[in-house]
Amino acid sequence: MGWAGVAWRDAEYELAVVDGASVSGRTFGGGEIGQLVEALHGCAGVVVDSTSGVLDGHLTAAGLAVFRADPWLLPDRPSFGSAAALALARRGAAGDLPRLTVASGALVGRHEEYASQVARCGPVERELAGRFLARGAVPGTAALTFDDGPDPRFTPQVLDILREHGVRASFFCVGINATAHPDLVARIAAEGHLVGNHTWSHPYLPDLTRDELLRQVDATNAALSTATGGAGDLVRPPYGGRTPDVLRWLAGHGMTTVLWDVDAGDWAAPGVATIADRVTGAVGDGSVVLLHDGGGDRTQTVAALPGILRTLLDRAYTFVTVDHYRSR
Ligand code: ZN
Repeated sequence: MGWAGVAWRDAEYELAVVDGASVSGRTFGGGEIGQLVEALHGCAGVVVDSTSGVLDGHLTAAGLAVFRADPWLLPDRPSFGSAAALALARRGAAGDLPRLTVASGALVGRHEEYASQVARCGPVERELAGRFLARGAVPGTAALTFDDGPDPRFTPQVLDILREHGVRASFFCVGINATAHPDLVARIAAEGHLVGNHTWSHPYLPDLTRDELLRQVDATNAALSTATGGAGDLVRPPYGGRTPDVLRWLAGHGMTTVLWDVDAGDWAAPGVATIADRVTGAVGDGSVVLLHDGGGDRTQTVAALPGILRTLLDRAYTFVTVDHYRSR
């Protein structure tokens, strides 16, 4: 089996495989990531673009050889989809793309660009104070946040643990997942947690046009509204990837950007003890903690969570949802 490209379009995934002169393809529903991963076993490599972060953690966790092709290497995208699967597969066969692993994450090869764009955002973040937050100012409280779900395997386990400990949290959901699993989004909201917008397909926002950004945000708000009866105005940019323009656009669109001050780094599966230590070692008054209930194998996050909750409850923290940290 040759090179595979995986695309997203609306609420579906498209697979194309190029093997010498032969080309084949198949379509999967947004809830069929497991079947998609099965279909990829045996391929030489699988290529995604920088708008498809919803997928790469699942692909690397399955042990596949995963590569990212950036926009300047690809034909134009539709305004609500990634580059075409066939173009991705052909670009993979041509070689010389950065390889993604569980430990490297999706932005391998672009970390310097990421850091310089984030560094330029400081003044805008202060200017947008009412539409931007990374930490609260309420003594004795902390806010746990779970990104990249809902995921049918891990989100219910996280919800069960939170319920056992009487803890409320915030879930930044990916739209394509929310559309595939509206029952899970409804359960998150029904159990008193906050549901926020984590875009439709988990793109690196600095790569998007304004029109793409609009559709990523609005389609996700619509999916969350369908599942819960109403979407809030909180959005978390994938990877925290941002530019001054992106932050101003989100604020102008009525959205409040929520980042974090404590990063568990659980997406890289560094070990249960490391995840727990990073959180309990860094949490302070008003901390916003970044964890993940979807986007890959979250076994370690689920295993670390009870210990994190016990430790912080023993320190008399009250857990709040991130909307408690809006500036008033
Ligand atoms: Zn994310």
